[in-house]
Amino acid sequence: MIKNCKRIVIKIGTSTLTYPNGALNLRRIEILVQTIADFKNAGHEVVVVSSGAVGAGYAKLALSEYPKTLEEKQACAAVGQSQLMKIYENFFANYTHTVAQILMTKDVVDDEHRLSLVKNTFNTLLKMNCIPIVNENDSVSCDGIRFGGNDTLSAYVAIACDADIIINLSDIDGLYDKDPRKNNDAKLISRVEKITDEVVSYAGGAGTERGTGGMLTKINAAKIATENGIPMIILNGENPRILYDILDGKHTGTYFAAKRR
Ligand code: GLU
Repeated sequence: MIKNCKRIVIKIGTSTLTYPNGALNLRRIEILVQTIADFKNAGHEVVVVSSGAVGAGYAKLALSEYPKTLEEKQACAAVGQSQLMKIYENFFANYTHTVAQILMTKDVVDDEHRLSLVKNTFNTLLKMNCIPIVNENDSVSCDGIRFGGNDTLSAYVAIACDADIIINLSDIDGLYDKDPRKNNDAKLISRVEKITDEVVSYAGGAGTERGTGGMLTKINAAKIATENGIPMIILNGENPRILYDILDGKHTGTYFAAKRR
């Protein structure tokens, strides 16, 4: 079923894009880009929601410690976002694909008129065969207009571009019934039919220092998406070629079924 999805949002987290020292993991990004380019070649439309701006800025500025204050994060994002796009631009160009940058804040999707403009932009870019690469406009966002992480952003982007599915690439295989980092007997849940309180209770707290999202933000994003008729799947992005499993119709990760539209 997933392989029949035409319009796919692929969300890539900071922990997938960077090494533990914060620098960009170019080998992984290159494999990711090649795989996404192949998705396009196979006839899918792809919208990428990419984190990594703060991480890339931190690495480029060679700071001694990861940014902690809002000002430092916003400054790092300003430096890192262009770094990130330069890398995507170059890698995708190797496979003759064109990327387009879209930076969003929450007030855009909260306003009917601005949302309709963004929808048109997505549709036009996809018609032009581009790969939109979306991030939160971190350098200018503040409380009230913040999505609160790219998991949430990916759900709103999927709604705005009327996507058929969200693939959320993370540093974990999917949703477990308890934290697998602390419990050896934790079991991977392959399908979630409905996001109940029990499902929410499976999610631990925060993610890594570099990424902002933990499992809870992913479940919240899945809730927003599935309630709007869009399924979401969480996959481990450690080896981006796992995306081919989806193309081949194999089931991996955790699939959150959508409510019927
Ligand atoms: N927008 C942030 C960045 O690009 C990341 C937010 C998140 O990872 O959820 O660094």
